Amino acid sequence: MKALVYAEPGTFSTKEVPKPEVTPNQVLVQVKSCGVCKTDIHIHNGAFISKFPLIPGHEFAGVIVDKGSEVQKLHVGQRVVCDNTVLCGHCYYCKRNEPLYCENFYSLGVNGPGGFSEYVAVNHDKVFVLPDAMSFDEAAFTEPTACAVHGLDRIQLKTGDDVLMFGAGPTGIILAQLLAQNGASNLVVAAPTKFKLDILNELGITNTVLVDRNDYSKHQKKIQAQFPKGFDVVIDATGHMPMLEHCFQYTKKGTKVVCYGVYDESKQLEVNPYRIFEDELQIIGSFAQTHCFDRALTYLDLKIVQVDKLITHTFNLDDYDQALDTVLNDKTHLKVMIHPGE
Ligand SMILES: [Zn+2]
Ligand SMILES: [Zn+2]
Repeated sequence: MKALVYAEPGTFSTKEVPKPEVTPNQVLVQVKSCGVCKTDIHIHNGAFISKFPLIPGHEFAGVIVDKGSEVQKLHVGQRVVCDNTVLCGHCYYCKRNEPLYCENFYSLGVNGPGGFSEYVAVNHDKVFVLPDAMSFDEAAFTEPTACAVHGLDRIQLKTGDDVLMFGAGPTGIILAQLLAQNGASNLVVAAPTKFKLDILNELGITNTVLVDRNDYSKHQKKIQAQFPKGFDVVIDATGHMPMLEHCFQYTKKGTKVVCYGVYDESKQLEVNPYRIFEDELQIIGSFAQTHCFDRALTYLDLKIVQVDKLITHTFNLDDYDQALDTVLNDKTHLKVMIHPGE
């Protein structure tokens, strides 16, 4: 089969590799759509928890074409999406029912073979059958939506909370829709790219503010004029350190500041600890997800989370260099999809 293989960070090629064989508890999925995500850029750079050689791609949907002898409830021909996480079940955290902290956290497309490939073998308990009306491209958004569902679990929004979010990439736009539907009264989204804010407006999230990357004081004035007290929740969905630091300009007593991006591992955050103490600030991290696919798929099926407007580019496996270039350099991109079978 054809797959995109990274020999090491920065070095990849599309080539023929052996088709995976299923174990008794696995199904073989022919990948139809797999999203490219910022995490794939971090993998390209050798950061994050990636291990090489690697076939990346962790946001994939496709069709079951084979199954192991023990698989009962899934069938060849079913359209499915796959939760890419594999948890060991026997480490310190798994035994404490904290599977996301699994010490052997294994993730298809991050440290195991993923969806930038014609076929992937997936454990049957991580496979979700798609509603008939859902396209493979939409279904490929289940993973980022699941991460946003986990983000909401972490934030524990109170009904009527005022929320400010920086960043309007695909995960940000998904999280914004979930926030709007799950108790935020005022939701302000600030980002530097106008067409992304326009998409948010089309989705009914109308309080958007354009960020000037070179002069934060401009948007700060606008936001603080509307919310002089500050916000209950301030989310950085950019992964950009200066922006995370900037989030602390909008806190009030009791504010939750949410780190919802993949940050440079070498960077340090400078925050006044006295303010954390006196204002009882909470700094919340949100990393990936486990067990959120079911809820994510429901949100997508009910169109509470809409993703069809987010796909701006589609490539096949042979053109992964162009896909990467688009994600890195093309300011008109939002979600880039790979269709491995084309
Ligand atoms: Zn992702
Ligand atoms: Zn474990």
